[in-house]
Amino acid sequence: MKKLLEETKTIMKKYGIKANKDLGQNFLINEEVVENIINSSEISKEDLIIEIGPGLGTLTKELLKKAGKVVCIELDKKMIKILKDRFITSSNLEILNEDVLQVDLNELIKKHKGNDNIKKAKIVANLPYYITTPIIMKLLEDKLDIESITVMIQKEVADRLIEIPGGKNTGAITYTIYYYCESEKIMEVPNNSFIPEPDVTSEVIKMKLRNKPAVEIENPKVMFMIIKSAFMQRRKTLLNALTNTQVFASKQEGLKILKKLNLDENVRAENLSIQDYANIAKEIL
Ligand code: SAM
Repeated sequence: MKKLLEETKTIMKKYGIKANKDLGQNFLINEEVVENIINSSEISKEDLIIEIGPGLGTLTKELLKKAGKVVCIELDKKMIKILKDRFITSSNLEILNEDVLQVDLNELIKKHKGNDNIKKAKIVANLPYYITTPIIMKLLEDKLDIESITVMIQKEVADRLIEIPGGKNTGAITYTIYYYCESEKIMEVPNNSFIPEPDVTSEVIKMKLRNKPAVEIENPKVMFMIIKSAFMQRRKTLLNALTNTQVFASKQEGLKILKKLNLDENVRAENLSIQDYANIAKEIL
């Protein structure tokens, strides 16, 4: 851990950097974690890597050695200057000073795919934790032409994202991830792997995009609306939650649907498989 810690401190001192908490700046100083993120991303020279929030460039430095092309998206202008200075000789790096939530990633991938022998796109990042969920939802809902997403995020969120629907950490977002991806835990990361130390434990996870979604459904938006409604009142039975949120026109109607789908009337939101939710969506459409 020492060498990276020294390097990070030196860069911060040289540029007068104080980590900006509002931008979720916790800089990685653990070499083992860097190595794990890079190895689990399975990067080749045919890959375009989009790195979100490169910060001082700790991951960027390793990504540049392995990838055909690296595009970094960083909101903080101070980091842009550092990245430009550090990687001035790297011809396979593009740096964008933007808010990742505002970037047209489809356009960006289209621009690079096919050039310089680039065949696949992957996302790699130590994400700013204050916007973990919006970033991941954007990556999935924009239906990007990407192969995988390897990210470090807070452990509590990670456990929900990689859960199989029905498991103890299931939340509404579990179904979204499962619909689009096969996901796995890479490693848990202790707080002292960063400066400054974050308040929460972190975890690296990898989400591989499925060739086709986990269930067949004509209108997935309706299914996700039902899931969201069910989890808004997750302590209630599914029947009550979906009646209260007017997904079911009435309790009687709901009972009829649950019976038809062989679901117990006392079942709760987290007990259903994604196929069960797809079936409910088909019934109410
Ligand atoms: N990759 C570096 C590392 O591992 O040490 C820094 C990771 S730090 C957790 C998150 C980075 O995301 C910071 O550099 C921060 O400035 C940047 N960031 C925050 N909000 C952003 C946004 N909306 N768009 C792009 N980058 C953002």
